[in-house]
Formats: sequence, C-alpha cells, structure tokens
Amino acid sequence: MRRGFAGYLSWRALFILYAAAGITSIMGERFHSRPAAIGPSVLAADMSRLMEESLDVERQGADYIHLDVMDGHFVPNLTFGAPVIKGLRKHTKALLDAHLMVSHPAQWVDDMAAAGVDRFTFHVEATDKVAELIAAVKAKGMGVGVALKPATPVEEVFPYCDDLDLVLIMTVEPGFGGQSFMADQMSKVKELRRRYPGLDIEVDGGLADKTIEEAARAGANLIVCGSYIFKGNKAERINLLKQAVEKYGNGKKDEDLTPCVVLGSEHCPAVAGVTGADAASGGGR
Ligand SMILES: [Zn+2]
Repeated sequence: MRRGFAGYLSWRALFILYAAAGITSIMGERFHSRPAAIGPSVLAADMSRLMEESLDVERQGADYIHLDVMDGHFVPNLTFGAPVIKGLRKHTKALLDAHLMVSHPAQWVDDMAAAGVDRFTFHVEATDKVAELIAAVKAKGMGVGVALKPATPVEEVFPYCDDLDLVLIMTVEPGFGGQSFMADQMSKVKELRRRYPGLDIEVDGGLADKTIEEAARAGANLIVCGSYIFKGNKAERINLLKQAVEKYGNGKKDEDLTPCVVLGSEHCPAVAGVTGADAASGGGR
C-alpha cells in the first residue's frame, strides 16, 4: 500500500516535470534563453556624423553598434574599414560588432583588433580556412562570428558552431541597406536554434516592426537593424525589437518585458547606454 502510494507520487512528480517542460513549448514552438540585444547598423545613419549617430542610438537603448565593412569586391559596395572604426572607438565604450563583407577577412584581423573591434564576423563564403580564421580572431581577444549569405546552406557552419560566439544569418543579399526581409532564411535560424540552444544567432537585413516577430519566433536573438531604427523614433523602435525577441523568442510575459517609458516626446527612459546598467533588461551583453 505504501509502495503504491509512493508510485503514485512519483508518477505525479513526473507529470509535474513534464508540465513544467511544456511551459517552454506552446504549439510546438520552443523558447530559448539567449538574451535579446539590438544592434543598429550605422550603414543607415548619416555617416558624416558617425560619432554622433552612434552615441545617439546608445543613449536610446542600443545594446551594440553593428559596423558593415564592405570592400567593393566581396560585395558591390564600399563602406569603411579599420581607420574609421578606430576613430569611432575613441568616443564610445559600446560593443563594436564588425561584419566583414570582404574577400580576404584574414587580412584584417590584426587591424580590426587594434581598432578596438569587440566582435569580428566574417563570411564562410570568403575563405576556405574557416577554422584557422576563427582561431586567429580569438587569439586577438575578439569575439568571433561566421556569416552566411542567403544562398549558402546552413549546414556549412555546423562544423564550427561549438567554437563560435555567434552565427549571422543574412536576411538580405549583403551589400546594400534598405532591402526587403527574406523570410525563407528563417528555416536556417530555426535549425541553428534547435541544434545549438546556447548560440547567439544574429539576423541582418530588413528587420522592422513587420518582420521582427517572425525572426524572433525562429530563434534569432541578436537583431541588426538599420533603416527602421534611423528613420523613426529610435528609442521606441529599439525597444519594440527587443521586446519582440523577449516575448516570442524567450517566451516572457508582457509584464516582464523590458519597459520603454517615453520621457518627453522622443526618449526612452533611463537607458544609460550600452555600458550602463539597464536594470530591467536583464542584460543583453
Ligand atoms: Zn551587417
């Protein structure tokens, strides 16, 4: 009789455990625990005012600054390189996230490290020595990411994921800002999230109020965003993107989302910039 009761208890315990596990899954959707972080791409800013624009998005809640480095060869556009980033570094303590759309990424590891880049993301299509380059970037003390163009199968990055800080899934063709979000890339994000629940997954291109929910549900937690942030109320838009990841990616309830209390007409609350403590957010860096 006692044994039977113990058996009943253990079945009950199992049921409770099962129910608890189920909380993370609604309609087959899995949540993850990677923190949401929003990285405005200065490609969409007034580049003649790079310092002011960067400091402005920091004040308005950005978690990091995304720097699109283009060489006019890997992609049909030119932007800036290490000297400009070095200049920006003097004015900000923000996390600088460099996305190298260049043909010879290994060539720029030393310069980017010296310029003060925190995270160095290169394209898997740009080198056949991916493992060596990951090691070289880490040896310089930078975080390391691998980026995939839309046509590149996600499987190409699997062998390296355990050594990476992030994988960047391009959601437009790299090279220009202002393009439309490619929803078909979300299958890559879902597969990465399923296989690597602890990985940071960044999406880049076409993210805005209309597309963020799909990206967040797929499992992206690092959100690069250009035009949408720079062409509107930055504080509100950064917060909207962040809350979407918290809600649809982390499964947080509405009352637990990072708040955005608009002070005056255009500022979010006491967001002290990237290096300051945004007490409500639970981090993001
Ligand atoms: Zn980028």
